[in-house]
Amino acid sequence: MSWLDEKESENKPGLIFVTRKVLKYIFSVAWKTKKSVFFMAFLRFIGQALSELKVLLLPKLLIDEIMAIKDGAPLDTHIRTIVIYVALTVSAEFLSRLFQNIANSSINYMSTIFERTLNEKMCEKSMTMDFQYTEDPEVLTQQRKAQDGISWYSGGVVGIMDSLYQIIYSILLMATSVTIIAIYCPLIIPVQIVAMGLVFYFNLKNQKIELEFYGKLAKSNRLFTYFMFDIPSYKNGMDTRLYDSADMFTERGEQFEYEQIAVWAEQNRLQRTNRVKGDIANAFRDALSYFYMGFRALKGLITVGDFTMCASAASRLYQSLLGIGNNVQELTKRCNYAYQFLLYLDYPDALKKGDKAVTGEKHTIEFEHVSFKYPRGEEYVLKDVNIKISSGEHLSVVGLNGAGKTTFIKLLCRLYDVTEGRILVDGIDIREYSSHEYRKLFSVVFQDFMLFAFSLRDNVEMGDTDREASDAELENALELSGMSEDAAKLEKGYDTTLFKGYDENGTELSGGQKQKTAISRALYRNAPVVILDEPTAALDPIAEYEIYKKFDTLVGGKTAIYISHRLSSCKFCDKIAVFSDKTIKEYGTHDELVDIEGGIYAEMFEAQAQYYIEAAS
Ligand code: ADP
Repeated sequence: MSWLDEKESENKPGLIFVTRKVLKYIFSVAWKTKKSVFFMAFLRFIGQALSELKVLLLPKLLIDEIMAIKDGAPLDTHIRTIVIYVALTVSAEFLSRLFQNIANSSINYMSTIFERTLNEKMCEKSMTMDFQYTEDPEVLTQQRKAQDGISWYSGGVVGIMDSLYQIIYSILLMATSVTIIAIYCPLIIPVQIVAMGLVFYFNLKNQKIELEFYGKLAKSNRLFTYFMFDIPSYKNGMDTRLYDSADMFTERGEQFEYEQIAVWAEQNRLQRTNRVKGDIANAFRDALSYFYMGFRALKGLITVGDFTMCASAASRLYQSLLGIGNNVQELTKRCNYAYQFLLYLDYPDALKKGDKAVTGEKHTIEFEHVSFKYPRGEEYVLKDVNIKISSGEHLSVVGLNGAGKTTFIKLLCRLYDVTEGRILVDGIDIREYSSHEYRKLFSVVFQDFMLFAFSLRDNVEMGDTDREASDAELENALELSGMSEDAAKLEKGYDTTLFKGYDENGTELSGGQKQKTAISRALYRNAPVVILDEPTAALDPIAEYEIYKKFDTLVGGKTAIYISHRLSSCKFCDKIAVFSDKTIKEYGTHDELVDIEGGIYAEMFEAQAQYYIEAAS
């Protein structure tokens, strides 16, 4: 059972728990990022209160004054009061708009800042969570839920705070309206409450429907983004064109789009009926209230001004009750969405985290009966692997595609934990080391390494961000990998941005140059164990020869593990491990292995040598 399923079934969080947890988080983010949001909310409150004063009280006062004049009261005394009331009305309106405008525009601006802050947290979690999660569909769907949940589904920090604000505001408005109505037309109160109860009930039903459909949409939203945005991106551009696959991808994307539209249509159909029922309850409320107030005014039990004030108060009472109901629903709903973000941030580590530091200069590595299945995988990819690599040893790892060579490296780098057995470094299980400290052991260049849209310098120096950047070391790393001449030809030298997508003056490196840059990055790291996974695959024969020639200088006295299909390179290594049938089938020096009759290595070497002989003749 996955962590999320467990969390759902054993510890099903109640609405109050979720709301409290999210509010606490949201308020702490707001407080740490932009405290002035609280002042702006207060200013907005004053603005809204002034507007209520203008609608509820001032018209009654004005009408009663006008009616008094109409009934023969002295004009000179009443006219002065009327002027004061008009001035108050105009000022209340002006200040109300001014305060609300200032507050709303500031809050809008702050909302972008909060959004950035939350996105940063999300991005940091995505980059630091255990590597195996980056390909786990459950985690990726949760990531999408978190992204949507904290942005447009919940309205983010400002959206959630706004719902809470509306609840507080509605409670105060309700108290004011109830006081007015209780004095002048008390029977309106039960009518409003019943109507509001019905509307609230129908809204609640709609909200449940929305939550249910949100869960259904998260996965298809993610797949839709993949089809519509990831596939057309630069990295896929060449394959898409060369295989003329635009139609196929668009068709698949449309399929997901139709799926989503069908889900939305169903959601809308279910919600529409509830909305109509709410409207009917509302119409009954209006009819009954006006009938009752009109009756009291005609009977002379209340003045015309009182009637106006009561009518406004009744509508305000209804609005406030609805506001409380809707916003409590809205707040819990928004918190539920945003909770997905907190669940994502809380996603626990898959790998046990130790705290030991790796000490000393020389390190021995040992695989002890290591077997491994990929997470969620059924089949063993490695079975009972045993090998010892001494400090300073140069090991070549060979085998057919899919034999498990890269997986062996990934386990050593602790991107995954072994399923059975253990890996020891200096006699200690690697699960006991702190991951940051442990990773310092390795300089790795994977087959599918990544360069980033930063300068050449940044791409190399990111090899070791703990160290003070140094031009001399940068030059040395570029020189060793054979990249320095190419770098010198770049328009802005080391400061040239790689790729054109983010900088119009950026450059596009050739496959070989990219590989040399990646090797430079690994060399710049200067770690005690160098791992090169098919490092020369994209290099031309001369560059490859140069790398081999410099291999000893490149890795020096360090431990080196070297995966290659070109067996001629194995001669440079002290030992060779041949992977086949999920394990190490042959192990020894080049001379030992070529002599094994019918041996895998001997056959592979023979086949390659044959190819070169034929090619040369
Ligand atoms: P090699 O480097 O020798 O070509 P790999 O170590 O990349 O082989 O792959 C060994 C086996 O593990 C292959 O069958 C491959 O399909 C499988 N495999 C590789 N990566 C993953 C992964 N992330 N999830 C599941 N299976 C994987």
